[in-house]
Amino acid sequence: MNNPLDDSVKNYLNTTTRHLKALKQMGISTLRDLLLYFPRAHELQEEVKIHNIVPGERQVLRGKISNFTTKQGQSRVSILSAILSDNTGAIEVIWFNQNYIKNQFPAGTNVLIAGKPKFDRGRFSMQNPTIEYEKTSKIHTVNIVPVYPEKDLDDAKISSKWLREKITPILYHTSGFEDPIPSYITTEKGFLNYGEAIKEIHLPTNEEKLKAAKQRLAFHELFILQCSALKSKVEWKRGAETKRISRNPTIEKQFLDNQSFQLTNAQKNAYEEIISDLNGSYPMLRLLQGDVGSGKTVVAMLCALQAVNAKYQVAVMAPTSILAKQHYQSFQKEFENAGIKIELLLGSLPSKDKSDIKENLENGDIDIIIGTHALIQDTVKFKNLGLCIVDEQHRFGVAQRERLKHFGSPHLLNMSATPIPRTLALTIYGDQDLSIIDEMPANRLPIITRIVPEKRRNDAYKWIKEQITLGRQAFIICPLVEESEFLENIKSAVEEYERLQNHIFPDLKIGLIHGRLDQEEKDAIMNQFSNNEIQIIVSTSVVEVGINVPNASIIVIESAERFGLSQLHQFRGRVGRGEHQSYCFLFPNALNEENQKRLTAMVRESSGFKLAEIDLELRGPGEVYGVKQSGIPDLKIANFTDLRIVKDARLEAEKIIAKDPDCKDYPQLAKLINTSNLNAFLA
Ligand code: ADP
Ligand code: MG
Repeated sequence: MNNPLDDSVKNYLNTTTRHLKALKQMGISTLRDLLLYFPRAHELQEEVKIHNIVPGERQVLRGKISNFTTKQGQSRVSILSAILSDNTGAIEVIWFNQNYIKNQFPAGTNVLIAGKPKFDRGRFSMQNPTIEYEKTSKIHTVNIVPVYPEKDLDDAKISSKWLREKITPILYHTSGFEDPIPSYITTEKGFLNYGEAIKEIHLPTNEEKLKAAKQRLAFHELFILQCSALKSKVEWKRGAETKRISRNPTIEKQFLDNQSFQLTNAQKNAYEEIISDLNGSYPMLRLLQGDVGSGKTVVAMLCALQAVNAKYQVAVMAPTSILAKQHYQSFQKEFENAGIKIELLLGSLPSKDKSDIKENLENGDIDIIIGTHALIQDTVKFKNLGLCIVDEQHRFGVAQRERLKHFGSPHLLNMSATPIPRTLALTIYGDQDLSIIDEMPANRLPIITRIVPEKRRNDAYKWIKEQITLGRQAFIICPLVEESEFLENIKSAVEEYERLQNHIFPDLKIGLIHGRLDQEEKDAIMNQFSNNEIQIIVSTSVVEVGINVPNASIIVIESAERFGLSQLHQFRGRVGRGEHQSYCFLFPNALNEENQKRLTAMVRESSGFKLAEIDLELRGPGEVYGVKQSGIPDLKIANFTDLRIVKDARLEAEKIIAKDPDCKDYPQLAKLINTSNLNAFLA
């Protein structure tokens, strides 16, 4: 039998084709879709007597409507006014362009109205309140009113009011929702059942029920996400051969004795976690997180060393060729005397060289291969790939991870300098184990960060010029104009470049980098910058992650308030890599209170993890990763900052997936667990 929830909304809604079209644009075509369109918030509104009204707060009044008058206001707005009275007093209510109200609620009708009263010239009034008959169903003026995400589309406006009107009469269909959460969990946690929770979120009976509904639905969302993540983890291990890399303490000691520094405790812990995975029966899938400069590379090298010692090959992948080259140089330096054969494979190499390298990979003459995506193309064959290290892992999609299976499921170590708050890491990277380097080597000079007001701009330029004369270099990051306006961003960077070159620093050599340049052009400019042939780089927000130019000690960020804290922190990580004191100057464009708070946090905090958490609190997860990586699942009810529910959902998901990875016993759940969904937002 068909579930009515899968029927088209048009069979149930009394509405226009324009509205139906608008709904479709919002991804709503079935009854199910509509009922799963959840409110973004709920407004509490208290019913009060007229003599108890408080200005500025949403309140509900109950009384008789009378004394309608209409007049014409400015720019042809029609103004309808009336008097609402109860046994304690009367108040003027006003509607703009809604003359139909006087026909719908004729004088003398008992009504409920809801809105925010204003106190002006000794009198209360209420503008554009929602109004309902006292006798019939109350959906706009009850105590708790759902507020939906509104959409103003070409065809029609889908307003909160419209949605309340349309959703309320079909709420009885919520009983048709199959509950994907196993009933033992629902019972144990005392959850509302799925349908009831959906009903309560749209039309709460009372505050308590609403809270219960939210809890249940938040758990629901996170639970499905966690199951998907854990399922994907199972998939990674499934059918993979065991590649044990046992730990050799002698070579480890040799390597460490050779370093000019001691590992930090955080580095040691991360290494311990990784090496124990490498020696396990399944391929590792681990994310190593650590702020820029926290020393992930040396940990990766130790692992590579152990893998090579265990007669496996190692692949090190970087998102850009310039980063790959940097890794190649540092690996060479460490390992050249140890008889380890290292090669660099780039798309730009002459094809003869490429085919030589490929041949040597296949016959096992190369121990460590370093390169870009080119490394995991079909034409590349390994003799015995045991470990794959991926730097700046968020640049590689999960699809690429899947490809690694074709190379015999090596252990995978992802590395990322983008700090993710714990709750977020547990959810969106829940399919990987996590190691965190949360400690900086002791020898680092903290970067000095300052917010520079417009009136000090020229002083800042003067100071930068002095620093450059002393031999330093600088980055200038241009504002993000608008998320989508790619060309505008380039334009602003070009203009800024010309302004600086022609008027501010005419004697210096300035380079320009933006998203329209191809990788080779960018690499060429970055190379010139590395060699100090260019002193200043003006860039849109594309500056390469991980780039190491130790001599660059200044970074200026224009309209800094437009960027998320994590992104600002990433920018700041471009400097502070050498012996020189480094500086980060935030040039704000417009500061409101929230922006002020965020930029002040940049000045105060040097930990990327702390900043990411502040950002998550202040702006929500979508913003934490800036524009490009905003592929974070759009949670409707749950909150990524709610560690308790995140952990709870994780725990329950772990229990199920461990026992029944394909959820054979829970077909409703199995339907929703979709690792490809997960991949879509991880990619
Ligand atoms: P990231 O984590 O950003 O990749 P790197 O691995 O490039 O950082 O390390 C940055 C610099 O810090 C390198 O020059 C590295 O040699 C150095 N380094 C790494 N670990 C330590 C340590 N424990 N003490 C001092 N310097 C270290
Ligand atoms: Mg690095």
